[in-house]
Amino acid sequence: MIVPFTDLRLLHNHAREELDKEVSKCINKSSFILDSQVRKFEIRYSKFCQSKYCITTGSGLDALTMLLLAHGIKKGDEVLVPSHTFIASWLSVTHTGATPVPVDIDTDSFNIDYKEIEKKITKSTKAVVVVHLYGQLADIEKIRKICNKFKLFLFEDAAQAHGAKSNSVFIGSHSDGAAFSFYPTKNLGCFGDGGAVITNKKKIKDKISALRNYGSTVKYKSSIIGYNSRLDEIQAAILNVKLKQLNKYIQLRKCVAERYLNEINNSKIKLPYVSDISKHVWHLFVIKSDDRSRLIEYLDKKNIQTVIHYPIPPYRQQCYKKYKYTSKKTDELCKSILSIPIYPFMQKNKISFVIDALNNF
Ligand SMILES: *Cc1c(COP(=O)(O)O)cnc(C)c1O
Repeated sequence: MIVPFTDLRLLHNHAREELDKEVSKCINKSSFILDSQVRKFEIRYSKFCQSKYCITTGSGLDALTMLLLAHGIKKGDEVLVPSHTFIASWLSVTHTGATPVPVDIDTDSFNIDYKEIEKKITKSTKAVVVVHLYGQLADIEKIRKICNKFKLFLFEDAAQAHGAKSNSVFIGSHSDGAAFSFYPTKNLGCFGDGGAVITNKKKIKDKISALRNYGSTVKYKSSIIGYNSRLDEIQAAILNVKLKQLNKYIQLRKCVAERYLNEINNSKIKLPYVSDISKHVWHLFVIKSDDRSRLIEYLDKKNIQTVIHYPIPPYRQQCYKKYKYTSKKTDELCKSILSIPIYPFMQKNKISFVIDALNNF
């Protein structure tokens, strides 16, 4: 048996007829940029998120960058970011001209440690970017309070957390806006690159609508220096089909996660911490092992594919070495984490095979 790390074909075969039909409709219409599919998706996704506005973009990185730009983040500003995240969270800050300043993480939740935030605030600090890493919400209510006290913007990198919520928090509800990615393997993914911002502020919506489209809202009139970063109609059509199933996809991921949590029982493997208040959407299921390289080799021999998210923290990347930052906690975490297969429609026998393999390690 081969257990792939993910298998998008299962998901897309499930919705195949409708996907084919909607893509075909786009070809019939042959109007591929900023038309009805994009408008429909923006309305539906903003409703799904209980947010006033959704503005789609060409990628998740662009969404986050333009969210920051629209709030006036610029050169000379400092923006706090988690020390442990995908590099794009940091890149968005750098692209505005501002400096990313890392804040240590909580190694249980994998998310930014709210207790570490105040120590990093200086006169130049303008914002905090939280990342809901692996699909679990960061401590957004506590972080909002800190941001209010120091008059900082709060942005959410929700690229891994579509649909995550708690009783009192849903993405966008406590912040100045959130950015999503629709990269194919994300919990809501299209068939290429795509992204979106959600916000409750009309001014920000207007600004990002212009930024993504050459700085223009009226054809051939540019008010600001913009980009070309739009979601195209075919991608929007695909997302319109898949959005209807998103809650089901999350539920299917949750079923796999619950089996792992209940049935993996090996003292050499540490299972992920799950906050009892937040609804984890299980973009990734990340275990920890002090004997990781041997574990990877062992699983590999059994044809169980695994991935490390992420092996090298942003501050150790060539492009960020100049900041000379280090975090012992993050370095250690990066040596022990391992993501195991989790995806909608994952077959029961494959789930059992992974559980047995881990229990026999
Ligand atoms: C995927 C991802 C991004 C970037 O999204 P793209 O669509 O690939 O540009 C940003 N942040 C996090 C946490 C991600 O996982």
